Amino acid sequence: MGFCISCGQQHQDGIRFCRFCGNQQPGDQLLARLRHEAEQIHYMRLQAQALAQQQQQQQYQQNQYNQQPRW
Ligand SMILES: [Zn+2]
Repeated sequence: MGFCISCGQQHQDGIRFCRFCGNQQPGDQLLARLRHEAEQIHYMRLQAQALAQQQQQQQYQQNQYNQQPRW
C-alpha cells in the first residue's frame, strides 16, 4: 500500500497514476533517483561541514600566529 504524493489517498503499490486525482506516482526509477539525490545531498552536506571545520581550524591557527609576537 502506498499513498498518493498529491492527494494523500491510499492506493495499491506499483500503480503509475493515482486513481483519485490522476497524478503520476513515483515509480521505482524515480524513487531510486530520489534516493540517489538524497545521498548526494547528504554527501555534499558532509563535505561542506568538513570544509567549514577546516576553515575554522585555519582561522584558529592564523589567530594563534597573529597572537605570537613577531620579532
Ligand atoms: Zn491522488
